[in-house]
Amino acid sequence: MTASRILRRTPHSMSKPVRTRFAPSPTGFLHIGGARTALFSWAYARRHGGQFILRIEDTDVARSTPEAVQAILDGMNWLELGWDEGPFYQMQRMDRYKQVIAQMLEAGTAYRCYTTPAELDAMREAQRARGEKPRYDGTWRPEAGKALPAIPADAQAVIRFRNPLDGLVAWDDLVKGRIEIANAEMDDLVIARADGTPTYNFCVVVDDLDMGITQVIRGDDHVNNTPRQINILKALGAEVPQYAHLSMILGDDGTKLSKRHGAVSVMQYDEDGYLKEAVINYLARLGWSHGDEEVFSREQFVEWFDLDHITPSAAQFNTEKLKWLNAHYIKLTTPEALAADVERRLVARNVDTTGGPDLAAVVMLYRERVSTLVELADSVAPYYVKPAVSEELAAQHLGDTARGALAALRARLEAASWDKVALSAAIKETCTELGMKMPQVAIPLRVALLGVPQTPSIDAVLEVMGRERVLARLDA
Ligand code: GLU
Repeated sequence: MTASRILRRTPHSMSKPVRTRFAPSPTGFLHIGGARTALFSWAYARRHGGQFILRIEDTDVARSTPEAVQAILDGMNWLELGWDEGPFYQMQRMDRYKQVIAQMLEAGTAYRCYTTPAELDAMREAQRARGEKPRYDGTWRPEAGKALPAIPADAQAVIRFRNPLDGLVAWDDLVKGRIEIANAEMDDLVIARADGTPTYNFCVVVDDLDMGITQVIRGDDHVNNTPRQINILKALGAEVPQYAHLSMILGDDGTKLSKRHGAVSVMQYDEDGYLKEAVINYLARLGWSHGDEEVFSREQFVEWFDLDHITPSAAQFNTEKLKWLNAHYIKLTTPEALAADVERRLVARNVDTTGGPDLAAVVMLYRERVSTLVELADSVAPYYVKPAVSEELAAQHLGDTARGALAALRARLEAASWDKVALSAAIKETCTELGMKMPQVAIPLRVALLGVPQTPSIDAVLEVMGRERVLARLDA
């Protein structure tokens, strides 16, 4: 991007192609709040046939890590939030920021300030003592006819933005409505430190400008930065983008979402057995709505999504609802796809499914019964690794009578043709023969085969497990 671009930029009309961005700081995982911001920015661009840009705000070198960058990319990839441009890294754009600072010094919209940190402290102390709001007093701010102090020897200057003194900064926030702040409330922001490195708010402005961002969609923890950023954009002669500040997400218990609420990284949801479809659907409803619709695909979301139906109040996380959605999407997933996912989870647990019953068939026994893929893996694992029956269950369900019944059943199973009808008949006949009720046979059978007293329909379980495995487990 050329230096002259910002000076030549003409105001855009709102019919200009949409360009949104997601601009995470790589200081941790891609968490739920960040993922929702990314989703809304992505969806807005997709909805309007625009471009979605990924920008990594890594100027906080002490806290930014390559692992965190990777975690963000992994999270975006998992959720399939594809970006059209980037990732751009702010650390690779330092020359550009310095170039804009030089232009601003030249244009008089920024100035060198030689007030030392110690002087600033003293200044603020005195202001507080007088009951005033602490702020930079403008000593080095150039004004027509004002004589500036002599530059101290060896002094190091920071660069400050020359904020307007009068009037208001106002914008129509697409979520929060009109926001106005008096310029008198803001002091002259430091845009470059004494060592020349540009500050956070300044980099964001230059990036949003150079990247031609038309809608800035971000968390409302940035709402206080917006008036400063707007003033700098105006000083650069730029068209101000629209802003949409998303309200924060609260945890299940109504307090700020934090590590205490379990999964921090979106990848943890993958780990915990959530389908990305469910997470996307869930995130979409965190603060946005389309009538009463709760369940919709990503495509449907993109078609419906707009910024006018985002609620300005905080959204509350609801794990039960996420689980409910996940159960819904699991039911819609093909047996093959579920089997592939569960296979991966079982391999991680050292459960070998080769040589066992057909995984897709086992998965289908549980597809309607689970709300996460971890539950699904838990349910199917005993088909491949014979579970240890707890002493408690053995004492409760595998006493002498039960063992006698299983022995009688075993004889019938050995001879039965291996389909549900015949297997069900074999169990019923065993009950009749011994004068027992169905559960008196079926529950011990479940415990003996799978180590649990409850399973899907026992004839279906037997059928899927296969004769050899059933007999072997009964013998054991
Ligand atoms: N880097 C900021 C963050 O991670 C976002 C800045 C912005 O969207 O303007 O919170």
